[in-house]
Amino acid sequence: MSSNVKKIEIPSSLTVRELATLFNVSPIDVIKELMNNGFMANINQVVDYDTAAIVAQEMGFEPQEVAVQAEPEALEQGPATLWQRLYAGEDAAKLKPRPPVVTVMGHVDHGKTSLLDAVRHSDVAGGEAGGITQRIGAYQVEHQGRKITFLDTPGHEAFTAMRARGAQATDLAVLVVAADDGVMPQTLEAIAHAKAARVPIVVALNKIDKPNANPERVKKELADNGLLIDEYGGDVLCVLVSAKKKENIDDLLEAILLVADSVQIKANPDRLAVGTVIESKMDKSRGPMATLLVQNGTLELGHAMTVGTAYGRVRAMFDEHGLPVQKAGPSIPVEVLGLTSVPSAGDVFEVVKNEKIAKSIVAERIGKEHETAASGPVRPLTLSDLYAQIQAGKVKELALIIKADGQGSIEPIVNSLKKLGGEKVKVNILHAGTGNISENDVMLAVASHGIVIGFSVIVDSAARKMAETSGVDVRLYNVIYKLVEDVDKALKGLLEPVYADKVIGHAQVRQVFKI
Ligand code: GDP
Repeated sequence: MSSNVKKIEIPSSLTVRELATLFNVSPIDVIKELMNNGFMANINQVVDYDTAAIVAQEMGFEPQEVAVQAEPEALEQGPATLWQRLYAGEDAAKLKPRPPVVTVMGHVDHGKTSLLDAVRHSDVAGGEAGGITQRIGAYQVEHQGRKITFLDTPGHEAFTAMRARGAQATDLAVLVVAADDGVMPQTLEAIAHAKAARVPIVVALNKIDKPNANPERVKKELADNGLLIDEYGGDVLCVLVSAKKKENIDDLLEAILLVADSVQIKANPDRLAVGTVIESKMDKSRGPMATLLVQNGTLELGHAMTVGTAYGRVRAMFDEHGLPVQKAGPSIPVEVLGLTSVPSAGDVFEVVKNEKIAKSIVAERIGKEHETAASGPVRPLTLSDLYAQIQAGKVKELALIIKADGQGSIEPIVNSLKKLGGEKVKVNILHAGTGNISENDVMLAVASHGIVIGFSVIVDSAARKMAETSGVDVRLYNVIYKLVEDVDKALKGLLEPVYADKVIGHAQVRQVFKI
């Protein structure tokens, strides 16, 4: 290498954004360079040294690895999102931009449903084109000639339930926060759930028409809770809207497209389709019906597919207005007829060569399901076997969901836990909130392979049931020191199993025989 090549030190892993800062170029340039090398990445994605080194060389640097472990944000943790996995093996040259798929999240009554309604009606062209608009679980709107797909089931619950099933349809989350109410427990939950899935957030500060709306206060609250909007030096866009008065909806759509551009949402339309079931039902006269969101490839009439443990051939296909369509490309939701049974929301569908192949794949899948059912469900991570999993290289981070009785206890717990972990495994606090352990917490643990820890709280009965069936480890403590000590011991492989008596029934001695 010639002497005028500048040496550059690159850590063993870093985000695309950090890499861009290191090179002093725009993250877009880094993303382009990665794409040229067949690697699809978004701005927050973590790349390893080898990948970063290739980009460095392309940019005229001489890379050198340094063993610095930058502390990544929660957003950069966890397995790649489904769509990143879907496109991982694609030839970069075949990828074309596709509409972003958006989920609306936020606290109850902050205006999620109203906002979805306002967005839907902002699309005058769409309203005119369709005769009867029916609800199929997703719809598209157009803004400045570009489309955006909205999932019509708001809330982080549905979002995480889908992730728990191994699917992810969402590219971007709109967080609705009422400007007259501010950051509430479910706002924080929504932030945690979106971050755990590494989905970028756009904030819609709603209800600005209300006389007591105080957007500045809410922005500060968001910043205080780790969601740094642009005015506070972060990169989260925040748009003031009124869903009721349909004000500034265009600005929100604009912001969504801006963020979508920065994460390079693409797909290859020229291949067999694959995607996710958004909704499904049994129609008395038409049989099983499913709304499918195509995530890669193009779905066409007559195509055969597998959908979880269902299969079939697309006999008819309708758009959100109930109009028949011949084909559906990436990010397009369609209602499909022709499946043999009703699939579940969150099931992944995949087009295969013909129905015979689809049938045999599904038969094998069902057989495997029986086998796994017989040998017990796949065990999720527990604190007791964490160390073995670390040693086996199966676990690189300990994802925790913390619930405590009050804000006063959360801080010391989170601060102490953050200090644990080391080179091999990091502690990643997905969510820390107050209140009892709910189904949402357990669901987040399922979706993110995490553990739920409660401090001076109890477990809701529904959450307890879900934890039992899913096998999620839920641990309860009343002493902070003991909680932190257990996690520390688990990380070091020193956590002893706890033996406790469990009453499973009572017996009474009725008669004694002497032999
Ligand atoms: P969700 O529970 O988050 O889906 O909230 P909804 O969309 O059902 O809205 C809750 C309440 O807030 C309803 O009474 C809406 O009419 C009202 N609301 C929603 N958006 C606005 C807004 O922009 N301004 C005002 N004044 N009220 C709103």
